[in-house]
Amino acid sequence: MLTRIAKDFRWEMAHRLPEHEGGCRNVHGHSYQMWIELAGEPLESGMVLDYFDLKELVDPLVAEIDHAFLCSRTDTLICDFMRESGLKAVYVDWPTTAENIARWFFERLRVTFAGASMKHLRELRVRIQETERTYAEVSGLL
Ligand SMILES: [Zn+2]
Repeated sequence: MLTRIAKDFRWEMAHRLPEHEGGCRNVHGHSYQMWIELAGEPLESGMVLDYFDLKELVDPLVAEIDHAFLCSRTDTLICDFMRESGLKAVYVDWPTTAENIARWFFERLRVTFAGASMKHLRELRVRIQETERTYAEVSGLL
């Protein structure tokens, strides 16, 4: 029977949306929360995927951006400053919206979950919450 599991991950990160006409154009940060949801047939163990194994797969991706500035490469004002300062930054080719962060995680995790030992997994959903009241979500088949 198709069964869903989910686990949340949290990190702190700064960003800005330079093209935004409101407050989001300023440098600011969020306490991000991400829900990773997987659907598939449970294995003989009774698990869709061991939560410990899920944590092992996702934690390195979260560590990469925790307490970093997520910088769109077109935002040369901030990118130049971050490079010169030596402070932790991750450079990406897209506006750093919750939608794009969700897609970024989805694309990288889809490759992992499509691996040979995880053929029983059918669907992946990534939900990114920047605030308690908003989220963006990307989902698709594996
Ligand atoms: Zn923001």
